[in-house]
Amino acid sequence: MAYDDTNIFAKILRGEIPCNKVYEDEYSLAFHDINPQAPVHVLVIPKGDFVSMADFTASAPAELITGFFRAVGKVAEELGLVEAGYRTLANAGDNAHQEVPHLHVHIFGGKKLGPMLDSHFSGS
Ligand code: 5GP
Repeated sequence: MAYDDTNIFAKILRGEIPCNKVYEDEYSLAFHDINPQAPVHVLVIPKGDFVSMADFTASAPAELITGFFRAVGKVAEELGLVEAGYRTLANAGDNAHQEVPHLHVHIFGGKKLGPMLDSHFSGS
């Protein structure tokens, strides 16, 4: 899938629309989700034109991949989530309901988060 630079996170990266920033470095930007699904719900995005995890890990320079994942860990640490626990999640494509076609890792925390996925899955 080609990268569409009109997506909302590209606009946030370019400073065209605001975000509630929690962290930024040369590789990454992290900000609060506009529609939080947990007491803490932060999105971390890489500074680069990548739609998904597959795209990013196949094509991004190693320094950016390292910098991005370090940022995810650092944000969880700075948000005070490490001791109690937290969840990271990255949706990709239709089956996962990815809404914004710019790679983003969700960080959820601040409460007991329940089962990882739909517990009604029967295995078929
Ligand atoms: P996805 O379903 O693509 O994994 O998640 C996209 C997330 O981006 C959703 O949780 C949604 O609430 C969030 N989101 C969509 N538009 C905006 C926005 O303009 N600002 C912020 N901060 N979050 C957004």
